[in-house]
Amino acid sequence: MTALTLTNVCKSFGDVEVLSDINLTVEDGEFVVFVGPSGCGKSTLLRVIAGLEDASAGTVEIGGQVVNHIPPAKRGIAMVFQSYALYPHLSVRDNMALGLKQEKQPKSVIEARVDKAVQMLDLGAYVDRRPSDLSGGQRQRVAIGRAIVREPKLFLFDEPLSNLDAALRMNTRIEIAELHRTLSASMIYVTHDQTEAMTLADKIVVLRDGRVEQVGTPMELYNNPTNRFVAGFLGSPA
Ligand code: ADP
Ligand code: MG
Repeated sequence: MTALTLTNVCKSFGDVEVLSDINLTVEDGEFVVFVGPSGCGKSTLLRVIAGLEDASAGTVEIGGQVVNHIPPAKRGIAMVFQSYALYPHLSVRDNMALGLKQEKQPKSVIEARVDKAVQMLDLGAYVDRRPSDLSGGQRQRVAIGRAIVREPKLFLFDEPLSNLDAALRMNTRIEIAELHRTLSASMIYVTHDQTEAMTLADKIVVLRDGRVEQVGTPMELYNNPTNRFVAGFLGSPA
């Protein structure tokens, strides 16, 4: 099964085309990394997949279903943002439970899923705290937990580690890789960081000016970048 298929997806803001004719697939369980310079359209593409922005043209299929007109909460996806986007007035537990409450899940289901995510992310000591009483790394784990409890088929991560220091980035990266193995969900992960891309990805999508420049495994891109632009991101030092 294919987790995601994008067919000729375009996105314009006013008369500025930000995404042009994007075609790509994410297979079930695949870990796909989007890389590309600032402003090339990575976040916009995630937001179109999530349904936070409408595609101007083309189709977005998730799990074999066209979702262009389906709202974000019903797409079977969950998104983790660079800025965490936690609710400051809610405890860790309530931040993680909120989406499930909105889905009107039974209380027992909510408790069981939150407890499981809390365990997976080692947040047991922090469940009653507010986000302001947590470190950056802990906040990002809460944001990841909030995605996990939804049990999405497809996770979308938008530069989730870029606000963390180097040591935490490595730890959290390893945690995300472990989550991917444990949950056997598909993941799309946006990053600027070559190490993150090379270590996490089954498949890397290089974006440039709103277009797909090259798609391949980390080794394919490293060994056979089609041009200097791709090489500059991921290629072996020539
Ligand atoms: P990236 O995440 O790769 O840095 P973005 O997807 O955030 O890039 O942005 C791609 C382009 O789209 C940029 O030129 C940005 O200014 C523009 N853009 C993004 N969101 C909007 C918006 N809501 N309205 C107008 N332009 C936008
Ligand atoms: Mg971005």
